[in-house]
Amino acid sequence: MSFVIFVVKTSLDTGYSLQAAATWQSDDPNPVRPSPPARPDKLFCSPRYFSLMLIKDVSIIQSGQLLPGQDILIEEGRIANIGPDLKDESDDGELIDGRGKLAIPGLINGHTHLAMTLLRGYADDMELMPWLQEKIWPLEAKITEEDVRWGVKLGCLELIRFGITCYNDMYYFPDTTARATKEMGLRAFISGVVFDMKPEMLGQVEPFIRRWKGDELITPAVGPHAAYTCSEETLLRAREIAERHDVMVHIHLSETREEVDGFLLSKGKSPVEYLDCLGLLNSRLAAVHCVWLSPEDCYLLAKRKANVVNCTVSNLKLTSGIAPLNTLMKADVNVCLGTDGASSNNNLSLFEEMKITAITQKNAYHTPAAFSAEQVWRLATQNAWRAFRLNMGLQPGALADLALIDLQKPWFCPLTNIVSHLVYSMAGGVDTTIVNGKVLMSEGVIPGEAEILEKAQERFLRLTS
Ligand SMILES: [Zn+2]
Repeated sequence: MSFVIFVVKTSLDTGYSLQAAATWQSDDPNPVRPSPPARPDKLFCSPRYFSLMLIKDVSIIQSGQLLPGQDILIEEGRIANIGPDLKDESDDGELIDGRGKLAIPGLINGHTHLAMTLLRGYADDMELMPWLQEKIWPLEAKITEEDVRWGVKLGCLELIRFGITCYNDMYYFPDTTARATKEMGLRAFISGVVFDMKPEMLGQVEPFIRRWKGDELITPAVGPHAAYTCSEETLLRAREIAERHDVMVHIHLSETREEVDGFLLSKGKSPVEYLDCLGLLNSRLAAVHCVWLSPEDCYLLAKRKANVVNCTVSNLKLTSGIAPLNTLMKADVNVCLGTDGASSNNNLSLFEEMKITAITQKNAYHTPAAFSAEQVWRLATQNAWRAFRLNMGLQPGALADLALIDLQKPWFCPLTNIVSHLVYSMAGGVDTTIVNGKVLMSEGVIPGEAEILEKAQERFLRLTS
């Protein structure tokens, strides 16, 4: 449930990256190349940075098929070239052996509350109110900025291990979230959260956006929590801020039947229709969940070019329902995937999200033909790039955000349909994760991981003591 999840999630701080910001603002697939990023000054997980990098003899996916023997040349955070027998002319860059590995564009987790990784497994399998009153609210009342810092770093470790290079977050202490994310080297869209229970947060959004706009990795956004936790005045203000600063709006929408029934009774409109009346339904909107939609809602979302972020696992775990993805896609709505927070999922894996989304939709529509591996792969890649206006993909000029997957695993054998394997049988094997041309994980090793795990455990023990 979004409110519940949000209450648990309410600790935020933020930012955005220059490349991401430039891409978002201009909507230009090939924005001006920025200056090389500065080295991070933090000890933990300091990414290795070379202005040039060459990945040799790696496989890629081309038209759904495995294409081996490719080289990927990366220069100053962008893919400079891709093809066989490429050379690093300068001869002083980093060389990565791609043999036996598959390169994929880094995945984008379209909806998280990253600091909630600290609450993973703390309270599961409970009815809503006891879960909130006995477990979540007492714990959340004690959450500090330092907890968020280590919760975010823990979440970043997990994202890196799942080949996720960018995430879209909503939580308390957005500045802290942004700083911790930068230290970890990931790309993120981070919302300054707005909701009426904490009216002072509305005034914090614009300063937050100003602080982070133009950052190399962090893109600020506005995050009105939901239509039912924000007044009309607050929602209009959020829209005004988003338009003034040309940033995205991130909101939970039509997550539960109760939410939709409440709007129909009180306003005579669905939440989707209500947002449309307020001028919030447009291409800068990332509407999360969208489980309870009428066919008219689906076509309205399509007409306004709004983006939908589906979180199947969270919706199933909280018994919220199943989003009508086939109807949305037939209406030509841009749908991408997110995991939601770790207290309602309980991990951040988009591979798991892809598989469960596909098999859930097959059951919802009573046919195994309802949702193919190729369709769900497209949701996790191309649709996400479109929603966040990122120049991604394994092609010259794209952001050097990618993951290398070790194909020498039993779940990839025999090498028949690689997209099917990634969606249905992938059970690990992300070997290397690269963001903005920097190696964040190499051969399964993330510098500083042990310290982060230790600190996160300490923060959890402090919270529950
Ligand atoms: Zn959420």
